[in-house]
Amino acid sequence: MTSPQKQVKLSLQTKLLFVITLITTLALLGNSALTYISAVRVNEQASAKRVGELFGIFEKLVERSTQSFEDILTQVPVDAYSGDKPSSQPPALLSLNPSIESMALHQFDGRRVRQWQADSPTRAPGETLDERLITIVSEQQQPLSRIFCTTSCYQISFVPVISSDGTLFILSAVRNLQQIFVDFAVLTGADVAFLKSDSSRLEPTISSNAASTSPLIREIQSLTGFLSQDKTVYTRTSAGLYAAARQPLPSRYTVTPINTVILSDDSDAQAQIQDSLKGGLIASAIALLITILLTYLALRTALKKLVNLSKAIPMLSESNYDRLRDSLQRYTRKPGYLDEVDQLNFTVLEVADALEEMETAVAEHRQQLVHKIAEHREAQDFNDVLVNDSPLVIAAHTLQGDIKLLNNYGREMAGWTRLDVDHRKITDLILPDLSGHSITENLTPLISGKQTRLQTEQLIRSSSGTVSDLMWVHARVQANNEPLILSVGLDITERRKTESRLRWLSKHDNVTDLLNREAFHEEASLLIQQYSDSHLVDLMLLDIDKFASINDMYGFHSGDSILREAARFVERLITCDTIIARTGANEFCALLIIDKDDYEQNGHPLHNRPLHFYSVLDDDTVEITLTGVLATYAQDGYNIDELVSNSAAALRGLKPIERGKINRISESIDSRALRQEKLQVHDSIVKALSDERFVLLYQPIYNLSKERISHCECLVRMRSEDGHLVSPAAFMDIAKENGLMARLDLLVLRMALEQLGAWHRQDVDLKLSVNITAATFESDLFIKELKSLLLETGARPSQLIFEIVETEAINNLETARELCERLASLNVQIAFDDFGIGFTSFEYLRDLPVDYIKIDQSFIRYLYKRKSDQLLVKSMVDMALALGKKVIAEGVEDDGSADLLRNMGVHYLQGYYISRPRRVSELDLNYTMTVQ
Ligand code: C2E
Ligand code: MG
Ligand code: MG
Repeated sequence: MTSPQKQVKLSLQTKLLFVITLITTLALLGNSALTYISAVRVNEQASAKRVGELFGIFEKLVERSTQSFEDILTQVPVDAYSGDKPSSQPPALLSLNPSIESMALHQFDGRRVRQWQADSPTRAPGETLDERLITIVSEQQQPLSRIFCTTSCYQISFVPVISSDGTLFILSAVRNLQQIFVDFAVLTGADVAFLKSDSSRLEPTISSNAASTSPLIREIQSLTGFLSQDKTVYTRTSAGLYAAARQPLPSRYTVTPINTVILSDDSDAQAQIQDSLKGGLIASAIALLITILLTYLALRTALKKLVNLSKAIPMLSESNYDRLRDSLQRYTRKPGYLDEVDQLNFTVLEVADALEEMETAVAEHRQQLVHKIAEHREAQDFNDVLVNDSPLVIAAHTLQGDIKLLNNYGREMAGWTRLDVDHRKITDLILPDLSGHSITENLTPLISGKQTRLQTEQLIRSSSGTVSDLMWVHARVQANNEPLILSVGLDITERRKTESRLRWLSKHDNVTDLLNREAFHEEASLLIQQYSDSHLVDLMLLDIDKFASINDMYGFHSGDSILREAARFVERLITCDTIIARTGANEFCALLIIDKDDYEQNGHPLHNRPLHFYSVLDDDTVEITLTGVLATYAQDGYNIDELVSNSAAALRGLKPIERGKINRISESIDSRALRQEKLQVHDSIVKALSDERFVLLYQPIYNLSKERISHCECLVRMRSEDGHLVSPAAFMDIAKENGLMARLDLLVLRMALEQLGAWHRQDVDLKLSVNITAATFESDLFIKELKSLLLETGARPSQLIFEIVETEAINNLETARELCERLASLNVQIAFDDFGIGFTSFEYLRDLPVDYIKIDQSFIRYLYKRKSDQLLVKSMVDMALALGKKVIAEGVEDDGSADLLRNMGVHYLQGYYISRPRRVSELDLNYTMTVQ
């Protein structure tokens, strides 16, 4: 925007024209004045010179006139005036020459002989002459003339003359000089006058022009006082411009001193000078006008362009480049007729282009800078958050182990202040590992530069003595040209605790702390191998009589405490080396290793042992009795599984036993019966498979965030020939043992996909999860089969979830990983079933790309009542969430557990609390949980 101060008040054009006019005018006037002055001066000098010459001319005129007069006088005949009869007639000259006033003839001794007077003399008679002059002439015998002034000025001339008789006479004549003055005026045009130098009067005695000379002399004298000066004066008088000078007449001409005055009229010369000056001025004025006009015309366009440029240039600062270009291009000539302003325009256009380019570049740079600053800030914030707010210990230390940085979390964990960190060594922070190696020893490959990254697991001890277990990742980095080691530690104390608890649980029973079934089988097998040759090995199976009614009468808590008491009772009961397990709801199993010598001496350690104890339940003292079967390992080829199944069959009542006692059984008979039973089940499975007598029940799975049923698990049931449904527990193990699972799984998959296809066509948005066993997913044909079934049924793969039992997946880790990846590529999801039971490590969870984990129902079913389960489930959920998995809790039977699970952050619930497994027609898919 143009500010008011910047508005043009006097245009450049006007200023330029004014200045040019002023300068030209001044130059012209100055030049004219100088010319005039120098012309006047030259004229004055010329006049002075001329006046000087006029004096010379006048003198010459006087001299020549005198001479010719004296010659004339010499010619006058004087004979007539000598002798005896002298004539009285005047000489003829007197009458012939009117200027002669008088004549006289003198003897040489000076005596006057005769005197003649003109007829009308101007001179007064009686004026005397200087007699001395005659003396001079007679002595010198040379003519002599002298001028003298009285009322007028005259010249007297004496010439010696000789008569024919030889008498010498002197002839004198007085003549009026007026004629010489007139001649001079006619000859030169100037005036001349004689002033008596002794007279104070300015009145000339004689002058060339009696009427005008006298007033002129007076006027010039009054103006210049020239009569008292020796130089020529130059002055303007009423009669014109005059040069005037005075000179004394040389004494050889005069009797008394006389001043000659010459007045030269210079008016014409002056007029000429003035005329030429006037002409010069007019010519100059015209030249000036033409100059101004031409200058104006020459500058008009350029000035217009300049004005336009001056208006356009501020647009540069306003970044108004397009307008600037428009405005300049109108005034920019085509190449070939360029002037400096055009070049300036081009330069400004180039500057505009450059500025615009620069501005664009600057804008881009600014934008990039803003981005970079934002990114940098984000990165800085991110780093700050990462370093100081993340639940990771971050330490930077030199190769010598001096700690340079320890983040908030690390300081909190170590119990150090910021100041404590200075001068601390990394060995002060990180304790040696389990093998006793210090952190410095462990970091040797990094310090030596052989490796750039390594992982350790080492503890931190806080100043209060608390020890935390950390998983460390150490990396060698370069910071400010100094090699540093960056150690990042993740606190895995809780995870390790959970893991060890889960590991313990994977082998033990949560309620009684005894071994569980699987661990018992493993350990028992080992013990049998070890001791069956040297010792007696007995298997004892016990259950608590009427346990179900105790549970009913006194409740779940009492049931659990009876189980614990029973466990302790069994431990006390067996005095020999043993392993004891809880193998069923109220079933205990023990392997007894009996020293043969001991047995010989003391009999069987269980001989006569009471199988009852007392317990206080709700202030009642209740007698708890147990029933047991005892089988001896007889080295006849049966393994522990068969030994257990045999005993279990006896306990289940397949063989008559006495309750409340330990019953020794014969293993061979019972195992045959068991095998028979298994064979029957196997046959019925095979038959059911070929008859397709399997039905699917669907158990809804509830999405807690969407508050709706999101998918269902397919649970298979075998329909017996008489029409009732047999649950998987009765046939699944036998199907697995006999390699029937692959067929069964595929049958289930086909039924599930047909259901999915139907739902898809009915626009029902539900997923289905299908259980598959290792036998199925290990098969090369599985994926192929799956693809063709998907095509055949029209089911969408995104609606399908496969459930793989955790233990099976881990036992076949590579195949499971491959399967997961292939299924993921088909957009099919994977769930880790029965999670927590066969626990080994959470690391597997990270390795396998599964989408869901299903926490096993044994952890969930009594969740609300068991604190220990809550702690376990909480840590499992936290771990799974940290690994980005969706968590399903199965076996939810009550609202208390449901609430707990919701609060723990579990995503999905499955269990009788939501719905039992049902036929598809019986499903309530609009079910919504009432949130308390
Ligand atoms: P799973 O896959 O863990 O299935 C969950 C089991 O827990 C089902 O038993 C279900 O009825 C039961 N259940 C669900 N909610 C609750 C609850 O709140 N309380 C209690 N006490 N139990 C609940 P089901 O149907 O007897 O199946 C047992 C197992 O048999 C299944 O465990 C699965 O491993 C296997 N199975 C079932 N159907 C199939 C199948 O089609 N194919 C394969 N390969 N295995 C199957
Ligand atoms: Mg399942
Ligand atoms: Mg399960």
